[in-house]
Amino acid sequence: MKICFVGTGYVGLISGTCFADLGNSVICVDNNKEKINCLRKGEVPFFEPGLSEKIIKNINSNRLTFSSDLSQSIIHSDFIFIAVGTPDKKDGSADLSSIDNVLETIISSLKFHKFTKQKLLITKSTVPVGTGKKIATLFKKNGISSKNIAVLSNPEFLREGSAIYDFFTPERIVIGGENADAIQRLKVQYETNLLHECPIITTNLETAELSKYTSNTFLATKISFINEVSNLCEKTGADIQCISKIMGLDKRIGKLFLQPGPGYGGSCFPKDVKALISVADENDVSMDIAKATQSINAKQKTIHLKHLYDYYNNDIKNKTIGILGISFKPNTDDIREAPSLEIIKDLLQKKCKIKVYDPEALSNLKKVFKEDATNIIYCQTLDDVSTDTDALILTTEWNMFRELDLDKIHDLMNVPLFIDLRLVYTTKTLTAHGFDCFCIGEPPIFNRNY
Ligand code: NAD
Repeated sequence: MKICFVGTGYVGLISGTCFADLGNSVICVDNNKEKINCLRKGEVPFFEPGLSEKIIKNINSNRLTFSSDLSQSIIHSDFIFIAVGTPDKKDGSADLSSIDNVLETIISSLKFHKFTKQKLLITKSTVPVGTGKKIATLFKKNGISSKNIAVLSNPEFLREGSAIYDFFTPERIVIGGENADAIQRLKVQYETNLLHECPIITTNLETAELSKYTSNTFLATKISFINEVSNLCEKTGADIQCISKIMGLDKRIGKLFLQPGPGYGGSCFPKDVKALISVADENDVSMDIAKATQSINAKQKTIHLKHLYDYYNNDIKNKTIGILGISFKPNTDDIREAPSLEIIKDLLQKKCKIKVYDPEALSNLKKVFKEDATNIIYCQTLDDVSTDTDALILTTEWNMFRELDLDKIHDLMNVPLFIDLRLVYTTKTLTAHGFDCFCIGEPPIFNRNY
């Protein structure tokens, strides 16, 4: 099967590569020519475990190619997956301008094309409910009949950091559309490719589109809920880890997404919660739970810095604060909407000096804080980030932070104050190593006085 992926970001590049790995002929297209040139040489523009090796393997077996020429790429493709970004606009609604650009090119190159076989246009990008119908109408208006091109929605549920595993072992595949034959063709494509048995849910366009937003908003809500509970545990002596366990053992609740932290981030949850609220507003429906989720999350990112400021009696200027972990979660270099960014901004505003360490995300961080170059030190080792700091804040639970040499770090720091926003450690462990500390969900243990 000839497959075209438009957009070589996390979704398009990973899914395209995995489809190639399954024996399909895949062309990945992007309007960023520099990116395409790098990809042709096997250089991968972001970090995702196992991706680089798979790309090189499939380039070498001639199953995976790259192009910046969308018109040519779609002419020879049976399946055209759209996987371009749909970021949020200032008003919270989804910005569909990249999708519009892609459609413009597709329409102008297919308008006078002689079709021998119906093409499938499959939206993998997360788009507001109603988008698929609008795309089908646009094709019709431009003289491209649904016999020649069928519009399908196939929302993507992969998780950055384990995206390859998720592609090959999905929990469900959702296909929305109006044309039963077209739905069936995509269904068969998945069934023949995936060895793992997985429910394939076929439905209409609207349901498929909305299901992606509701899934993400529900997960975000779980996170905001447990974060509020952990703030209550901090004040009452209840054990947040034990509460998460007790709740999670209830099958109706489920154990995932019940870990407290500095709020959700990434390229999906924040924008998808906003877009769901926006699309509901347009339909005169108020998404009150989603709104609460969003405002809890906004507060949660920096709420615990108050312990640091209290510790120093608000005399924080010129203190050196080390940040362990920048990416919005482990195993990715993606820092879009990462809580660490808000934490760093808050600290910079208070005139702190910042040291940062992350195994993969430092180069992305440099692009965001270009103007603060003198106040941020980008460290290459754990020793560097710890040395002479007045506090360390653990913001992302990379595995390497689970095995810190706490005695060494204690001795390297100027003031051994450890703030753990991911519950990698407990106050019991940290105090045993001589730290003053705050671990999310527990009251702070501050033995020194400043
Ligand atoms: P991304 O920002 O990483 O990549 C988007 C790519 O599209 C970029 O390489 C960009 O250059 C390219 N592009 C933009 N306009 C283009 C055009 N006109 N022609 C060709 N290429 C163009 O985005 P992403 O994280 O891969 O997300 C893509 C979509 O998938 C979004 O709608 C997102 O919400 C959804 N999604 C993302 C994830 C995730 O974990 N990242 C998971 C599920 C769904």
